Amino acid sequence: MQDRIDRVRKQMRAAGLTSFLVSSLTHLRYLFGFTGSNGMGLITSDLCFFVTDWRYRDQAAEEVRNAEIVIVRRDMLAPLKDRQLVQAGDQLGFEAQHLSFRLFSQLHKLFDNIKFVATEHLIEKIAIPKEPKEIASLRRAGAMAGAVWDQVLPFIRRGVTEMDVAAEVLYRARKLGSEIEAFDPIVASGPRSALPHGRSSQRRLQPGDFVVIDYGCVAEGYAADVTRTVAVGEPPAKLRDAYAAVKSACELACEAARPGMKGSDLDEVARKHLEACGFKEEFNHSLGHGLGLDVHSLPRLGPESKDIIPANAVVTIEPGVYFPGLGGVRIEDDLLVTETGNEVLTPMSRELIVVE
Ligand code: ZN
Ligand code: ZN
Repeated sequence: MQDRIDRVRKQMRAAGLTSFLVSSLTHLRYLFGFTGSNGMGLITSDLCFFVTDWRYRDQAAEEVRNAEIVIVRRDMLAPLKDRQLVQAGDQLGFEAQHLSFRLFSQLHKLFDNIKFVATEHLIEKIAIPKEPKEIASLRRAGAMAGAVWDQVLPFIRRGVTEMDVAAEVLYRARKLGSEIEAFDPIVASGPRSALPHGRSSQRRLQPGDFVVIDYGCVAEGYAADVTRTVAVGEPPAKLRDAYAAVKSACELACEAARPGMKGSDLDEVARKHLEACGFKEEFNHSLGHGLGLDVHSLPRLGPESKDIIPANAVVTIEPGVYFPGLGGVRIEDDLLVTETGNEVLTPMSRELIVVE
């Protein structure tokens, strides 16, 4: 973990920062090992502080590495002033996507003689290449997602509601050891499967439906994120064709992934194929995203993405095709990009399964 702090400092120097305020809980876990729900980190050129409230005194003592622990009653910002952790003339970087406006305003009031520098993705960037231990956790999360699928599949049949299926996914995931919900599972059937991020409803599965099921599992904080689409009874020909195209788009992108590629290059592999199959307009989202302690992270795989995919990055590959009013299909796997190629972390068949 010290190595991670060194990489943050390198980024800080490059950005001209004298100190950096960490407010994302995920990043506090990544840098210091803290798994609680309230904390703040401050990294300077030679010191690290971790601030949390008294509820987490014992937990912080047990978990936090690489930083001096500061316990407060209520006011998380007080130590910055009282202990002069931030000083006149400092260039204080903060996480623009994670620092609340309320805390930012308070900081501004406390310190009128420092420069605040908004940063984006500073930690996300250093967290892209995964260490062996992180890869082991991601592999475990992927295997868990596969085991969940094996157990949930027999439950999917006509007459059960989307919410029933979602509940089964959550239950099985927990029983198999998933620590928390990576995110609320998406179970969208029939015309609702055309909504890429539809919420599960009380709709009952019917013959002719496609059902898109997108869910996660978490091992040691690291997430798997998978999607499978099943047919209830014989599907309309249009959906069957779309399924075949999405499946091969997923296969092609997984095979093509190599270190050094740009996010947009990998996206194009799947997009070109779906275009050739006649589904240009119907693939209306990005190919995938980085995966780690956060479910949606860097690198982004989309038509606009300039992110480079380094060796040991873990990304999702999730092409989809959607027909409003009829239905949709998405297949999502998690992929480790290795020095020489790649490895699929989610051991699940991509064949179309038709249930009764
Ligand atoms: Zn997903
Ligand atoms: Zn995803």
